[in-house]
Amino acid sequence: MFIFFLALLLYMLLSNYFKKREDTSSTTKELLVCPNCNYSVEVDFEPGDFIGLIKGQCPRCSSKMRIKGIYSV
Ligand SMILES: [Zn+2]
Repeated sequence: MFIFFLALLLYMLLSNYFKKREDTSSTTKELLVCPNCNYSVEVDFEPGDFIGLIKGQCPRCSSKMRIKGIYSV
């Protein structure tokens, strides 16, 4: 009986945890860095983007910018 209660409690905690994770997925950001002048800018994550992908142009030196990191805020 006690084990059943414990499993139920664990299930409730886990489902709550995953629900929170889903909520934060809409605020994923990515960091673009220019390999030439080290200029960096944070933009919204777009599906299909990955670390190392060349994306956008540097406003300072017009070099191609690269995605350095993807994270949720
Ligand atoms: Zn640059």
